[in-house]
Amino acid sequence: MAESRIPLLDLAPQIEALWPELSAAIERVVRSGHFIMGPNVGAFEQEIAEYLGVSHAIGVNSGTDALIIALRAAGVGAGDEVITSPFSFFATAEAISQVGARPVFVDIDPASYNLDPELASEAVTEKTRALVPIHLFGQAADMDPLLALAQEHGLAVVEDAAQALGAEYKSRKLGGLGTAGALSFFPSKPLGAFGDGGLIATDDDEVAMHARMLRVHGARTKYYNEAIGYNSRLDELQAAILRVKLPHLDEWNEGRRAAAARYTELLAGVEGVVAPSEQPYGRHVYHQYTIRVADGRRETVQHGLRDAGISTMLYYPVPIHLLPAYAGQYGPLPIAEQAAREVLSLPLWPEITAEIQMRVVETLAWSLR
Ligand SMILES: *Cc1c(COP(=O)(O)O)cnc(C)c1O
Repeated sequence: MAESRIPLLDLAPQIEALWPELSAAIERVVRSGHFIMGPNVGAFEQEIAEYLGVSHAIGVNSGTDALIIALRAAGVGAGDEVITSPFSFFATAEAISQVGARPVFVDIDPASYNLDPELASEAVTEKTRALVPIHLFGQAADMDPLLALAQEHGLAVVEDAAQALGAEYKSRKLGGLGTAGALSFFPSKPLGAFGDGGLIATDDDEVAMHARMLRVHGARTKYYNEAIGYNSRLDELQAAILRVKLPHLDEWNEGRRAAAARYTELLAGVEGVVAPSEQPYGRHVYHQYTIRVADGRRETVQHGLRDAGISTMLYYPVPIHLLPAYAGQYGPLPIAEQAAREVLSLPLWPEITAEIQMRVVETLAWSLR
């Protein structure tokens, strides 16, 4: 009998386990007829603000919009430079460009894949207005030196925490460390909705007020529009779903951490593979478990796994500065470019079994022989 296919991520166990509560929450919203900015949005904003330890949480309709609105609310706009990482999802840089600023890519730390604070400091100019560190794969960027740099030059810090809800830097929740943090509830993220969703977290009253205004067409008072804003609200239905899921987030993140530790143990004997490294300053939540396979053998491994029915992904195959949208505008960033050639993300979800992980690692080891 052929072995079953192994997906990169299986959301079915959490949906099955919570279905009675989820379906009841969905039914209540539908029967209430209150679909936009209803009581669940407000309640969810309060609950997640408490979870993150921030004073304001503003639900919006995606992580991308969370970045765009957070940047604008923090005063970033045309003519500004924003220092960020080239090794992220496109939206990180896209949001910077959307507000009229110019992304300035600096190379990454090869161990954490996150913005290198030393290089960030060398990239500051007269025009620099903000830093956008991203916490890739669920692990914190080294925030203290970045926050110090921002302090020194009067820069805003907008954290891209889309992959890192529940992760920590020195015991503080990511997304709540800078001027503002952007979160995503895209279904595959640590806390996933049943569609798009996002959130801005901040301790700054002004930034919060501005973000709340921008998400509803730039109006604090209905039909009295003060700025050119957006229609970017977190859906009432998604908020109700997220309220059911949020109390389970820590337990899911623990499940992913345990599974990651098991992979690292299983991979210890496999030559040619480098397991992800956990930085001492943070609690990594393994949104992705990403290995490195050097010497041009990554595709061999990926194809070997694929032929055995095991899904993997390349996050990310091309660093942002080399994508067609930005091609020709930036010089080489060798560490990010090497990472893009070597990374491979393995199947991982909170309930993944040791049997599945053993099959993945055995197949992987076999493909490298
Ligand atoms: C998912 C993601 C985003 C965008 O979030 P959406 O909700 O899909 O718009 C931004 N940055 C990073 C790093 C992401 O992983």
